[in-house]
Amino acid sequence: MRQYKQLLLANKAWASEMVEEHPEFFSRQVVGQKPDFLWIGCSDSRVSPEQMTMTQPGGMFMHRNIANLVDENDLNLMSVIQYAVTVLRVSHIIVCGHYGCGGVTAALNGGTEGPVHEWLASPRATRDRHSGEIACLDDQTSKINRLVELNVIDQLERLARTETVRDAFATGQPLTLHGWVYDLSDGLIRTLAEIDAKTASKTGLQPLEAA
Ligand SMILES: [Zn+2]
Repeated sequence: MRQYKQLLLANKAWASEMVEEHPEFFSRQVVGQKPDFLWIGCSDSRVSPEQMTMTQPGGMFMHRNIANLVDENDLNLMSVIQYAVTVLRVSHIIVCGHYGCGGVTAALNGGTEGPVHEWLASPRATRDRHSGEIACLDDQTSKINRLVELNVIDQLERLARTETVRDAFATGQPLTLHGWVYDLSDGLIRTLAEIDAKTASKTGLQPLEAA
């Protein structure tokens, strides 16, 4: 197991390496941020958004929670979305799930309790809406991974219904929502769905309370 002191040692090594390679790096960081992307991903320790997309600090505004959920009552995420879209004016929001997700597995099995159980209400509802399709799959891994994909698509649609995103679409602000899934077994990201102002109006996405 990695001791916490190693994190601090590694940080020192990283900082001096960055200065050696890019002497202006930290003085530029202090000036401010102008990321193009907001990333909404899972808290899982094996999923490292910046590392797997080779993004440098400053490239991505980020929010992570168990099972990469978008909940309109989540003040934390709603603030992140509001700031990213209206102040930073990101052009892309990515909701990225990952195969083998523990949160989605728990939602599939339904056997959690406490805050995690409450948190996972949305993927459990997704499971119930697609129970026929999921039941047809042979093994548990396929069931989990299909629910991972369905969850990403559902969360992406929930994202499209948030007030901030609807306002951005309505005013013509360039913004595209992307639903992706990361494969732990090969390190690759697969694209699942995309929503922009045009497709949102075509599919008639409505505010959640009206859905
Ligand atoms: Zn996960």
